[in-house]
Amino acid sequence: MPAIPSLISMMTQLIASPSISCSQAHWDQSNKGVIQLLEGWLSSQGFQCEVMPLPDQPTKFNLIATLGSGDGGLVLSGHTDTVPYDEDRWKSNPFSLEERDQKLYGLGSCDMKGFFAIVIDTVQKMQLSNLKQPLIILATADEESSMSGARALAEQGSLKARYALIGEPTSLTPIHAHKGIMMERIKVTGQSGHSSNPALGNNAMDAMHSVMSELMTFRTQLKNQYSDANFVIDYPTMNFGCIHGGDNPNRICGRCELEFDLRALPGMSNQALMAEIAQLLPSIEEKTGTTIQLSSLFPDIPSFYTPIESDIIKACETLTKRKASTVAFATEGPFLNQMGMETLILGPGSIDQAHQPNEFMALNQIQPMQEVIRGLIERFCLQTNE
Ligand SMILES: [Zn+2]
Repeated sequence: MPAIPSLISMMTQLIASPSISCSQAHWDQSNKGVIQLLEGWLSSQGFQCEVMPLPDQPTKFNLIATLGSGDGGLVLSGHTDTVPYDEDRWKSNPFSLEERDQKLYGLGSCDMKGFFAIVIDTVQKMQLSNLKQPLIILATADEESSMSGARALAEQGSLKARYALIGEPTSLTPIHAHKGIMMERIKVTGQSGHSSNPALGNNAMDAMHSVMSELMTFRTQLKNQYSDANFVIDYPTMNFGCIHGGDNPNRICGRCELEFDLRALPGMSNQALMAEIAQLLPSIEEKTGTTIQLSSLFPDIPSFYTPIESDIIKACETLTKRKASTVAFATEGPFLNQMGMETLILGPGSIDQAHQPNEFMALNQIQPMQEVIRGLIERFCLQTNE
């Protein structure tokens, strides 16, 4: 097999290839450079590579690289995009990997280009000519903005494997669950008019007051009804994040908008929650003479849950000597679970450094992660006939 670059050289090249994804168009970039690097290295190691443009964004790509065949197997998955960066708050060039104080600095070093370099370096040092089940490296687009890469894969349903690991930075702790995230907007349209006579209009702010009290009652019901001891905040939450309405004290408020998020526990359905909220609105419209619209600011992310008894969770608890836990951030995990894989989140580097200026991966995370990857490949691709 042709030699591939060293781990540090791969990480340097991945970080030097910008792949920011962002809902603000001026930041948003293609991930093609990163996909091409991964495709080159993996195909030189004998992987069959499939590069797929996203249905709605032809400049962005998912990569599925497969070695071996069978209907079981293991997926090692990561996203190829990064968040934007604050240039003036970086001490070094975010696109140039720099080692200082036993840490590797660069945009995407821990979240999560470094993971791919670690995976490929581990794989190339293993003897994999006799795989009993396939080893699949999955590289997705757009995780940081819309998760449209993973959503597209889930819709296509073509990726099949029994187990999956997503190498998001968890400081090497196995993660088996997280909450869902929904970000919603409620827009109330009333009728403005002179403030001296309330009958001249329909006050959108008054109506929003009713909306908010209904939502707060609903929130209390959810809190009383659901709890999950796996989470530090063990109930579903709803946060009112911003509100805008009206313009002048002497005008009846004609429009008011509220944005809020809702974080559901595993087992709760985002769609059912939306339907319950929508049901609260018609009686307020009728009572206040306003029109009330509910819409999503972003496509929702379902909650994620893999049973603690799953073989991959157990295997990772043994390999890391740590109990599986939960996190407060969302991942592509629910989409991989939808495809029928038992999925866990476990990766090098800390979420505390992700999405921050001077993002880094500590050097001491690399070797333990390589041992986890090696252990999983041995267990699920080399030894098993399942
Ligand atoms: Zn990430």
